[in-house]
Amino acid sequence: MLFDPRPKERREEIFDRDKELESILNGMREYPISLIIGIRRVGKSSLLKVALNEYPGIGIYIDTRRLYSAGSGSISSAVLVDEITRILLGRGRVGFLRGIKVDGVNLAGLHLKPRESTWVDVLDGMEQLGKKTGKKVVIAFDEAQYLRFFGSRGGKDFLAGVAYAYDSLPNIGFVFTGSEVGLLHDFVGIDDYSSPLYGRISEEIEVKPFPRKLSEEFLRKGFEEVGLRVPEEEIMQAVDKLDGIPGWLVEFGFNYWKKGSFNAAMETTLNRARAMIKEELFELEKRSPRYALILKAISIGLSRWSKIKDYVEAKGGPVTNARLNSLLINLEKMGWVKKENGRYLMIDPVVEKVMRE
Ligand code: ADP
Ligand code: MG
Repeated sequence: MLFDPRPKERREEIFDRDKELESILNGMREYPISLIIGIRRVGKSSLLKVALNEYPGIGIYIDTRRLYSAGSGSISSAVLVDEITRILLGRGRVGFLRGIKVDGVNLAGLHLKPRESTWVDVLDGMEQLGKKTGKKVVIAFDEAQYLRFFGSRGGKDFLAGVAYAYDSLPNIGFVFTGSEVGLLHDFVGIDDYSSPLYGRISEEIEVKPFPRKLSEEFLRKGFEEVGLRVPEEEIMQAVDKLDGIPGWLVEFGFNYWKKGSFNAAMETTLNRARAMIKEELFELEKRSPRYALILKAISIGLSRWSKIKDYVEAKGGPVTNARLNSLLINLEKMGWVKKENGRYLMIDPVVEKVMRE
């Protein structure tokens, strides 16, 4: 069902995106590293999961945020090894490891124990698994920018493992997704000579919001699926307000289906948006309370640098130019704002609306 609010896992549950799926599958088959980038709620996790389900080799899905919040502001090697071991064991009973001994996790003769095995041991194990089964192993890290919290050197030890696999383990591939596109690029560092991955080739797939017509069609098709007749004007109005971000369109469609009216559906959607954005802001504000002030300024239409500064200083006290610049650059890298012709603009119109309140 298109309006199911959970991430989708099968192709028939998602709308459009055949091209993106082909590119992702091609990346999994042909490239050692693929990046899937795009703003929050655009459908990256769904596409990744669908692709992993269709990938003919061995695919492993890791929700990086979960590893992070499980720890204490960092991701330890043990947590990562533990997660991969758990996934392999879970599958061992039913899936691709049947027939391969998986006590502990005894992968093709290599024993993995979370406390004793390192990330590189896991990679060696995966390589053996790939060789033994004749299937390339793809390890996919969803919201991979969080891997910068791996270990104590900004994730360099994780990347060193990836670089090692890139150079020496032909049966392993990686997929990284990221909503915080700039942070993901900085982390992976393909263009940064100080990064372990410098100069390595990768495939990059950008998932974009639906264009206007496709957003309308998405809603029509979703309503048809649940047997609801919704007036065209309401479909137009919904897309005016929510733009082409599938996550918001799904939320709206689902709520319309449950509540039966445009206004109730829009209200519930915005309430959900408020709750989600509040949680995301909470994380941001832990890093600097000024982030929320800046987002508020931009949302109420202060798009010029000097106006933003005035607003932030009026509400939060003095801030140096350098500091404000670095906060703005971070907000760009995290996918909250964009800069166009010297003006700062919010990327997501729903976030903008909620921040204006
Ligand atoms: P992201 O990982 O980019 O934040 P998700 O994959 O979690 O996005 O998608 C957000 C929401 O939008 C989910 O409810 C998902 O079911 C829905 N969704 C995303 N893309 C599509 C699509 N192409 N068709 C149907 N639903 C989609
Ligand atoms: Mg996601």
